[in-house]
Parts: sequence; C-alpha cells; structure tokens
Amino acid sequence: MIKKIQPLIANLNATRHILKTFNLRASKRLGQNFLIDKSVVDEIVNAAEIEAGEKILEIGPGIGTLTQGLLEADANVTAVELDKKLPAVLAETLAGYENFSLIQGDILKVDIREIMNGQSFKVVANLPYYITTQIILTLLEKKLPIKKIVTMVQREVAERIIATPENLIAAKESAKTYGALSVAVQFYTEPKIAFDVSPTAFLPSPEVTSSVIICEVRESPAVEVVDEKFFFRVVRAAFSQRRKTVVNSLIGGGFNREKVISALQQSNIDIKLRAENLSINDFATFSNNLRGDQLA
Ligand code: SAM
Repeated sequence: MIKKIQPLIANLNATRHILKTFNLRASKRLGQNFLIDKSVVDEIVNAAEIEAGEKILEIGPGIGTLTQGLLEADANVTAVELDKKLPAVLAETLAGYENFSLIQGDILKVDIREIMNGQSFKVVANLPYYITTQIILTLLEKKLPIKKIVTMVQREVAERIIATPENLIAAKESAKTYGALSVAVQFYTEPKIAFDVSPTAFLPSPEVTSSVIICEVRESPAVEVVDEKFFFRVVRAAFSQRRKTVVNSLIGGGFNREKVISALQQSNIDIKLRAENLSINDFATFSNNLRGDQLA
C-alpha cells in the first residue's frame, strides 16, 4: 500500500490547527468530541485486533483521528459521517491513504449491509454520545455480519451494557444499571469494558468519563428464544416500569395478567420479582412460556 506520510492528527495542536484551517467548531449537537491522545487511539486499534486488509466500519470519523490509526494498521476502512462539512476535511487529513472510503450520511439511516458489500466486518468507533445506545442496538438488531464492536461510550453506558442482576445486589440497588440495554447487548454479544478514558483525551472535553468496550458478537444468541421479537417486547415491557413487579409492568404493557402469572410460575420465577431480578435465562424461559400460552 502506498501511503503519503500524513502528519499525526491525534494531538491537541494538530486538531486545533485542522479546525482553524477549515474554520470549524466542534458541534455539540452532533456529539463532536475529537480524540487528541495518540495512546488512546493506539489502544483502541490494538483492541480491534486488525488483520491487514480487514474490513472496518467506522462510525463518525470526525477529522480522521481514529481513522488514521486504523489505516496505519492497514485496515480497509469505510466510514459514515453525518456532518456535511467533514468530507472536505477528511479528503485532506487522510489524503494518500488507500483503502479508505467515506459515506456522508446518518448511520441510523444508511444501508450498512450494502455499503459493506455484504461482507463481514468489525465496527470501530468513538460514538457520538447523543445516540450511543440507538446506534449499538441498531447494529445488533439488523443482524449484520459483524465480528466485533470496539467502541468508545460514556462510562455509565458501558456499565449498563455489562451489568447483570448480581451487580444490583453488589450496588445495594443504588445504581440501576441492569436493564433492557444489558439484556439486548448480552443476548447478541459478549461485552466487556477494555479501559477507561479521561475527558482530557478529547477536544472539547466531555463532561463524563468514557470507556472503550469490546463486544464480541456471538455465533448464536446467548439464550434460545422461540420468537426474538416477542422476547424483546417482554424485556422492554418488564423494564418499562422498574419499580413495579414484572407482573404489573407487563399488564401495563398490554399483556394478560393470568397468562403472565401462569408463565412466570411455569418458569419457576417468583411472581413478586421485578425485571431487574431476572437473568437473561429467566427472560428467555419466561417469554417462551408466555408466548406458548399466547399461541394456545
Ligand atoms: N472519530 C472522531 C474522533 O475520535 O476524534 C470523532 C468522534 S466524535 C465523538 C463523533 C462523530 O460522529 C462526529 O464526527 C459526528 O459528526 C459524527 N456523527 C454524529 N451523529 C452521527 C450519525 N447519526 N451518523 C454518523 N456520524 C455521526
């Protein structure tokens, strides 16, 4: 691969210089917090375990900071960026790198399967925080051929993603971290927190600490469910009113009281429990039994 040697983007001076040259300001509305710490870029690239030529989808390349790290690792990067001002910037900051293509558009709206040519790929990103969970859920629910997701998220979101009912006991119920997001991400992937990132690694600094998470996509979901859509309907309804019992939350979600109680009993789940006490396995057994009842 022929590379034009490009100056390093991942530092404060270069980032300020690029923004000034293009007369840009980081947009709060678009969740723009640009990485300025080369060691964080390197750690993310290492976590992605890139093989030469491997296809990577990057969401929100910004001015190309993380992209440059990926391209230096010989990845084949397709990036989707919403900000219409940034293609002109990237054309300059990443000039000379082959294996880079840019789609200007909204990651929630583009046809990801098509832009990745139907091939399997990894997702690497420093996500815009105003839509972090929406993006992660969209990627997973579309059943795209994703091998793994390595991404920067708010520390609080990372904790919610990896939380289990046991965390709740450890946190003495103070941190309500386990929820529908934990169930959804753990259903499709094995998530873990790789490392934390201080606000000082970004320009401008976000108000919160961030974490890089690694989600290894499972070959098949963590639990066997008869009807995936129904399973997630049950999970969402159960967590929609956290302080209520599963029975009452599901009634609020339009489910039949007797059928809910009967399915919980059939699943050996105490009918007084709340959603936060149910493991993914419990939800699978319960939703399978409830669906069976509904079909009867
Ligand atoms: N990757 C760069 C970095 O690490 O410095 C920028 C990360 S910044 C936190 C998030 C990026 O996502 C911004 O460039 C922003 O414009 C872009 N973005 C925001 N909403 C988006 C969307 N719906 N689709 C695609 N990109 C989006």
